[in-house]
Amino acid sequence: MNDKKGFTTTILHSDRLLKPEFGALHQPIHTAVTWGYDDVQGLVNVFQNKAKGYAYSRQGNPTVTALEHKVTQMEHGMATVAFSTGMAAISATLLALLKAGDHIIASSYLFGNTRSVLQTYTDMGLNVTYVDATSVQEFRNAYQENTKMVFVETIANPATQVADLGPIGDFCEEKGIIYVVDNTMTSPYIFRPVTVKASLVINSLTKYIGGHGNALGGSVTDTGLYNWDKFPNIAAILREQIRPEMLGITQIRKRGLRDAGGTLSPEAAHSISVGSETIALRLERACNNALALARLLEAHPMVSKVYYPGLESHPEHQLAATIFHRFGGLMSFALNDGVDCFAFLNRLKLVIKSSNLGDTRTLAIPVAHTIFFELGAERRAEMGIPDSMVRLSVGIEDEEDLLQDFKQALETI
Ligand SMILES: *Cc1c(COP(=O)(O)O)cnc(C)c1O
Repeated sequence: MNDKKGFTTTILHSDRLLKPEFGALHQPIHTAVTWGYDDVQGLVNVFQNKAKGYAYSRQGNPTVTALEHKVTQMEHGMATVAFSTGMAAISATLLALLKAGDHIIASSYLFGNTRSVLQTYTDMGLNVTYVDATSVQEFRNAYQENTKMVFVETIANPATQVADLGPIGDFCEEKGIIYVVDNTMTSPYIFRPVTVKASLVINSLTKYIGGHGNALGGSVTDTGLYNWDKFPNIAAILREQIRPEMLGITQIRKRGLRDAGGTLSPEAAHSISVGSETIALRLERACNNALALARLLEAHPMVSKVYYPGLESHPEHQLAATIFHRFGGLMSFALNDGVDCFAFLNRLKLVIKSSNLGDTRTLAIPVAHTIFFELGAERRAEMGIPDSMVRLSVGIEDEEDLLQDFKQALETI
């Protein structure tokens, strides 16, 4: 309806155009677990996918639907299912669509918990090949007859490698493979995976979309580009009831959300929805801060390396400049050999030592000792993660305050 409006205008008016009662500008928080019908046929129709409606809030709730609609609009997608966390969205998507014996090609720079869930599914019969996502040739080399899915992230965390997103999309289209892009690090404000032919887009709503570190959530959006009619793992019962284009997202809603049960609460959906109204404003500011900070760190004699796609020295800088609207709020850096990164972190006064990202506040964490500790030294080396690496999720503080905090910490160390 309002597809022609800008990114922020569309989000701001999204709830209102769904016509909540009394002309409310926000979709209310519907806490009801179950929904009643005067005529039993109404309830039956919902169960049989013959009518839209709600039966039980584990698989659908109007507050959550309104947020799903917003994410669909942000991603220029066709339909979205929301989950309790980003990890619930990822594990449910894999669970809903793949079978033992299927093969998936995944980036070797994946978020640690995604890598961990792929390991769990490997134990249950899935085959996974990990490849350097910066080169489409690696995906072509890893292709097998039973390859059903490719799974990549836009910008990797923490070393900020940018996946070869466009050519990987062409490859998936050519082979009829489901192309899953985790867009968490960029968010739909910075990048829309539909533009590189993604089939499914994952977002951790906890991060930039919610944006305030006060609610967990996740989502998967079907872009409408994948031909589900030909996909062999769709349940026969769904093929009888559902339009072909809705088969994938419906199977995700039923097997991934209804059966696995990682439901987003209406209270969290409301917080995320309100947070999402300012994503463009927050990210513009965070990206400006991140670039200024990356330049400061790169020029500092105590810093040996800065990982940020916005720097000309970044190996995928040209690609990032071509396909992303901004370079994001996440960066990492390594201090010189022998400089104690704990001592440095403890000297920061404004920046918070914390593991989240996409918050309004700037957060810092030593990578090798925390989020990538479980991987072990060998895999960390493979992923290009030095022991002194610090990851920063840059927030929306006043730029001068932020730069000042880093300057004083670097000077006194
Ligand atoms: C945080 C994150 C997730 C998981 O999201 P949660 O909401 O924390 O479960 C998935 N992918 C990426 C890239 C992330 O940064």
